[in-house]
Amino acid sequence: MDKADGRHPAPNDAVLVLNANYEPLNVCDTRRAMGLIVLGKAEILLNGRGVIRTARCEYPRPSVIRLGYMIHRPRPRVKLTKREIFRRDGYTCQYCGQEAVHLTIDHVVPRHRGGTHTWDNLVTACPACNRRKGGRMLHEAQMTLRHRPVEPQPSASYLFARHVRENRDWAPFIEGW
Ligand SMILES: [Zn+2]
Repeated sequence: MDKADGRHPAPNDAVLVLNANYEPLNVCDTRRAMGLIVLGKAEILLNGRGVIRTARCEYPRPSVIRLGYMIHRPRPRVKLTKREIFRRDGYTCQYCGQEAVHLTIDHVVPRHRGGTHTWDNLVTACPACNRRKGGRMLHEAQMTLRHRPVEPQPSASYLFARHVRENRDWAPFIEGW
């Protein structure tokens, strides 16, 4: 299964994997997806990428596959990173509401006052607001937050946003989850 035909020749093209109930699970490469199909563990829901030829036969190249059995797993969580905090906060300062080119992360309860590095204590701040607040508590700085910071509960659209930009034909399989 090494010779590919069609628009995307690479065997490591991304394939969207759906759970048996059609919930988007993850992304794997074409090689792994073909393995699941050959073993009868998954079916192709969307092809549209031509075929893969072997010495004996041709296989349709999957773009979206669905597992024939349910995978039970904990709800996926968004990784706590600077980028994801900016994204959660819509790239706007949570104090003044400005969209800033340069954004910073502010600890709502400052670290030296026992503030933790957690979703509920980290917010996006513009440099001016971050400076103004300094190492103080909200009430000391007489500042308020526009939204209570919480851990994002990711929808599939949120989790797979980057992939959908690269694979437009996946959108109908992601929407609504
Ligand atoms: Zn600000």
